Amino acid sequence: MARDVFIFNPGPAALPEVVLDSTSKAVKDFAGTKMSIMEVSHRSKEFDSLINDTSVILRRLMGIPDNYKILYLQGGASLQFAMVPINLLGPGKVADYIDTGRWSANAIKEAQKIGKVNIAASTKEENYTRIPALSEIKLTPDACYCHITSNNTVHGTQWKSFPDTGSVPLVADMSSDILSRRINVSDFGIIYAGAQKNMGPAGVTVVIIRDDLAGMAPDNTPTMLNYATHAGKNSMFNTPPVIAVYVVHEVLKWIEDMGGIEKIEEINDKKASAIYDVIDSSDFYRGTVDKDSRSKMNITLRLPSEDLEKEFVSRATEAGFLGLKGHRSVGGIRVSLYNAVPLEAAERLAEFMTAFQMEH
Ligand SMILES: *Cc1c(COP(=O)(O)O)cnc(C)c1O
Repeated sequence: MARDVFIFNPGPAALPEVVLDSTSKAVKDFAGTKMSIMEVSHRSKEFDSLINDTSVILRRLMGIPDNYKILYLQGGASLQFAMVPINLLGPGKVADYIDTGRWSANAIKEAQKIGKVNIAASTKEENYTRIPALSEIKLTPDACYCHITSNNTVHGTQWKSFPDTGSVPLVADMSSDILSRRINVSDFGIIYAGAQKNMGPAGVTVVIIRDDLAGMAPDNTPTMLNYATHAGKNSMFNTPPVIAVYVVHEVLKWIEDMGGIEKIEEINDKKASAIYDVIDSSDFYRGTVDKDSRSKMNITLRLPSEDLEKEFVSRATEAGFLGLKGHRSVGGIRVSLYNAVPLEAAERLAEFMTAFQMEH
């Protein structure tokens, strides 16, 4: 039965109805094994075929070249904040970081524990209300890598075009916009994403890594923190998060059934426009970031007063629009429009916003 609410949660986030249905079945009987997806061996041929198929579909959807490995790791995107420098930031070397928000800042904090960090650009002084212009970015010519956050979940900004770092590998935290739009994977050395926003449940982090970057960790790197360990064992050095990988597989199949990323991107554009149009045609709602930097995944906005914001959230919740409260560090309202949020949800919310404005 379809749900009668619309979920705008920032993460963990909405999942497609068909994915919840197939997962419910697999919880009882996975692939005809008469065992739950939580009970089968990760070494079974059924799971082996599932994890391989997950990578085949992801490769097809994103156009991932053969010289990249796809890893399914645990520890969230937050562990990648440490794993990237542990593997790539050599002694005496520098890594460039572009600071565009709370998650970039967390990544920087971890990297500084491992080695030397150059902040190549930052919009912190402006409360992260924009993405820096490419001309503002001061790259280190021989940096080990340059790290960016492609979509800033908390602040509501998103990179439109990525910096050209030449031979320096570009590393991107795409936790909140992976699979939402077309990108050229070969522009990146590493792409990583906690699954719980745009591709599945919490518990698995997808890492797409160019082969040469998976073999650079120093010898004293703990086994589990070395990309080479996981790349060499098809993510089965130890037990992977089996059910989380299953859900990612189902989400990827759903994207393919929807018509692939091109089609998803088209729908995402319409969803974002529905909300931004209401904001732009009103003095009541106020977007919090520069127009050029606006995110299509997380739309942040303010109302004329905090009391009105509280009332908006509670009235929206009553009307079945869930998860709209802004991040505690920013306040206001945040509308998260990840892939699994249907166009209808955005359109209905836009109508609700207009009606709420009229009433006040
Ligand atoms: C949510 C989020 C994270 C944190 O992910 P965890 O999997 O909880 O560690 C990191 N980066 C971005 C961009 C996020 O949106």
